[in-house]
Amino acid sequence: MRDAMSDQSISEIRRDLAAAYRLIALEGMDDGIYTHISARLPSGPGGEQRFLLNPFGLRFDEVTAANLVTVDETGAVIDDPYGAGVNAAGFTIHSAVHMARHDAVCVLHTHTVAGVAVSSNQEGLLPLNQWSAQFYDRIAFHDYEGIALNLEERARIVADLGDKSVMLLRNHGTLLLGRSVAEAVKLALNLERSCKAQVAALGMGLTPVVLGHDIAEHTASQYQSMYDSYEQKGKPDPEWAAQLRRLDASAPGYLG
Ligand SMILES: [Zn+2]
Repeated sequence: MRDAMSDQSISEIRRDLAAAYRLIALEGMDDGIYTHISARLPSGPGGEQRFLLNPFGLRFDEVTAANLVTVDETGAVIDDPYGAGVNAAGFTIHSAVHMARHDAVCVLHTHTVAGVAVSSNQEGLLPLNQWSAQFYDRIAFHDYEGIALNLEERARIVADLGDKSVMLLRNHGTLLLGRSVAEAVKLALNLERSCKAQVAALGMGLTPVVLGHDIAEHTASQYQSMYDSYEQKGKPDPEWAAQLRRLDASAPGYLG
């Protein structure tokens, strides 16, 4: 497994995580002060685990690279430039996933209308289009147990996730893991488009054309190869560079 920290500096991770909050807000995929996006930092001088999280109570469009809070795996604050602390309860799912999945730099959780709608159906996400084919046979599910605060559910979430990077939280939302912040955001944006398209297609009252196994699997493999080229081979990622330029133009304060 690749060392997730090998080729990104702390300042780049802070920039990318702030960009993630701003992009999710720009796309209307935030939910007030709820849901979180977290990023793993390189271990501290004593080998301690460190993660970045948004300051408690800030909207996603108020998050900057400079005001992100550093916490340990329990959500205890290590560094807090803004001084508002973090929502430690909201970090419980993230910390469990981070501790189980060292291949993931970023854990991104959303409550979007389309994501919740698709998660609420038994069939989950169908391979109805190019976006959703990316996720074919690659989605984990976790059944709803109420607001996720207890330690026992953390273990079940990790077990349900297994080695997948995309999970539909039944009746609740979505969870994405990225080998970089950029990858988690790209997955989240494509999953959202997939869910919106499914809601639209199934709402037309006509007969949807569901892609067959072979073509859906082929398409998912194509996406996987493209993503691997950025994450494993260090190829420059023009999609993420374009998203950062989008923020330079529309939210220039995101670096703080
Ligand atoms: Zn949630």
